[in-house]
Amino acid sequence: MPGATLHLTHVELLAREAELPRAVREALERELTYARLGAVFHDLPFYTNIITMMLGYWLEMPAEFVPFALKLHRYHPDLFAWHFLREAHRDSPLLTREQRLSIASGFFAHIALDLEIHPLVNWCARRDVLLHGGHESHHHRLTEKYQSLFFHRGLQGKDIIGSHRFFSEKSVIVEPPPFFRKNLGIPVVRWATDLLGGFFHEGAPSMRQFASWLRSFRHFGFMVSLPPAGRNSERLGTAENRRRYYENAEFSFRDFWERGYRRSVALLTLASEVFAAGDFSDASREAFLAAARISDLAYPPEVGLPALEAHEPALEATG
Ligand SMILES: [Zn+2]
Repeated sequence: MPGATLHLTHVELLAREAELPRAVREALERELTYARLGAVFHDLPFYTNIITMMLGYWLEMPAEFVPFALKLHRYHPDLFAWHFLREAHRDSPLLTREQRLSIASGFFAHIALDLEIHPLVNWCARRDVLLHGGHESHHHRLTEKYQSLFFHRGLQGKDIIGSHRFFSEKSVIVEPPPFFRKNLGIPVVRWATDLLGGFFHEGAPSMRQFASWLRSFRHFGFMVSLPPAGRNSERLGTAENRRRYYENAEFSFRDFWERGYRRSVALLTLASEVFAAGDFSDASREAFLAAARISDLAYPPEVGLPALEAHEPALEATG
């Protein structure tokens, strides 16, 4: 399951960040629901159907192959980010300027966090294939789950999973949150599908498709906020798992998080300067892209992690 919990907490923390330009902070604070939507935007296509998602997870099947989610992460993510920013700047009868700044800020926060944390997640997942076998995509999901668990424990004493607040507030990414029916009437459904169509053309989702992701995300919020999910998280949050996924001699998740957070502050500041100036010329685009350094969000370059071959002898030693 994509690490939505971390992305949502990330943007909540940014909404209180004094170093961000005031307009950005106020937009995040006052329009937090839009910021949350932006913060999970690239991952929305993963929310196909909650039942198959859960089953796949429990049966340790490879994660579902979702081409459009991969496209959002890998197909010119830098040019797509520029497109997103330009569309967010454009006046629209559907969303206010502050709502558009908020969703764009959440969107850039997702990029920054993916770029800094995915190298570690990918590394852990490959390590665990070598050590324990199984599908890399399954280990990827587990890694994200445990990192989120221990991060939230450190932040607030317990995991966010299994809390009512997750359903009532934190996983609300549009108003009103749809549960039983797809709601095509939510203004941001049209706004977002127009934006996606302008970049991905025939490959872009329809309004119906986009609305169905929003509904599945609501189902995800519901399942994850139930008490059994909380008890499960308590049970699995062992010292051994902490060492395996969160903090050990080879890495500390907090270092990667810290880099993601700093990168978000820098990237949101950069994006807000373009947003305020409204300069979408080629020269402005080149300057923005050079400073933003946005690469493949799913497989960003890995730095500062040991070579994995070193783990293979350990496999024999631990049996
Ligand atoms: Zn992502």
